[in-house]
Amino acid sequence: MELSRYLKIYPSPRGEGRVILFSTRRGAVLELPEALLEAARQGNLAEDAARQLAALDILVPSREAEREEMLSLFANAATRSRRFTALVTLNLDCNLACGYCYEDPFRQKRYMTDETADLLCDRLIDQQLDRGKDVVLEFYGGEPLLSIPLIRRISHRLSEAASHLGRNYSFNLVSNGTLLNRSVAEELSSLGLRGAKFTLDGPRAIHDIQRPFVSGKGSFDCIVANLKDVYSLVSVQIGGNFTRENYRRFPLLLDYLLEQGITPDKVASVLFAPITPKAGNEGIADFSTGCASICEPWLIDASLFLRAEILKRGFNTPKPLPAGCMVEFTNSLVVACDGSLFKCPAFMGWKELRIGSLEEGIADYHESHRLDIWKNSECLDCPYLPLCFGGCRFLRKLQTGTIDGVDCRRDYLDATLESIIRQDQELRRVKLQ
Ligand code: SF4
Ligand code: SF4
Repeated sequence: MELSRYLKIYPSPRGEGRVILFSTRRGAVLELPEALLEAARQGNLAEDAARQLAALDILVPSREAEREEMLSLFANAATRSRRFTALVTLNLDCNLACGYCYEDPFRQKRYMTDETADLLCDRLIDQQLDRGKDVVLEFYGGEPLLSIPLIRRISHRLSEAASHLGRNYSFNLVSNGTLLNRSVAEELSSLGLRGAKFTLDGPRAIHDIQRPFVSGKGSFDCIVANLKDVYSLVSVQIGGNFTRENYRRFPLLLDYLLEQGITPDKVASVLFAPITPKAGNEGIADFSTGCASICEPWLIDASLFLRAEILKRGFNTPKPLPAGCMVEFTNSLVVACDGSLFKCPAFMGWKELRIGSLEEGIADYHESHRLDIWKNSECLDCPYLPLCFGGCRFLRKLQTGTIDGVDCRRDYLDATLESIIRQDQELRRVKLQ
């Protein structure tokens, strides 16, 4: 047995000749004596200890075979998966007028038609449900709740087909939260709604400036009231967008939520992300997805600060886990409101990244999306590979105008991962006491 190459080793804050191992392949953390690690390196471990480390993929039969395995990881995951997910853009319209909205330049109040929604259902029934896959949709906009009749139309049809074929259908919402009140949540839950992501850009004073209604009125109180109304019905995630000037005031939002009885047991997770500049007439990612990371010193400080403040108050926030860009997964798609198909919502403003349509089907996007971009010796030997897989194609395109290389996260992960693991060890433990 050999030590995995997808491993980071950090000194333990306890000292005493101990180290922390983090398996980037499994997202597993283990603290152990340095002498034990050395024995593992030399292949001299007792059988029991070796078995435990192998169960966490910290010890592997062969480093060379492990490296080879990474090359077919996404193809194997797609074969094993029983689930197909699609992010469906129901409209490009909104009842808020956020100054930073990336969809603003190409919005034009467009809505998905009934015919396109029916075609989407036809494709999902024939190509997924009928072939043994469950279907999970994420309704997106604009604001998806401006299209409730479409949600009903799609969900009635897919629920019926799923139950006829012995499969499951459910959906989540990426919503600004202003229209998801109790009666809407009750109706949508009966149609398959499981989770909703609400956006709150910090405390009221910041949020109401960044995310006003089209009328100019603040939306903060309406969103918080809806949150209180629906957390017992659907799984709620909170996201928010900060700037360099205002991120230090975001913990005030968390304190306010606690005062209002929106406690950690009622919220699945909290994640704040930076606002990114608009890119002319091109699409730009919703970074509150947490997909992308940018290695600027203030952003590293901001994300570590906010993560600690979230955990200190007992809320959950994502852990570092193996993850790839949506581009890599054949069982995942983005459907634009005219029925065009993409691999990431951030690509919707770029025609050259369209991969087909509900009518035409999917063209080969291997080259246009540079699927093999991380299949080089530098990435395959990099301990961060399972957390990165070449980074974010969108960010690379934004930086250089084309997906001509990886968006390397090594500097970002060098600067943050050890602190993140320590935060999880120290602050998640506090929550359990
Ligand atoms: S290109 Fe990939 S990593 Fe980047 S925002 Fe889109 S899905 Fe996320
Ligand atoms: S892009 Fe950079 S961080 Fe990502 S796997 Fe390759 S070398 Fe590692």
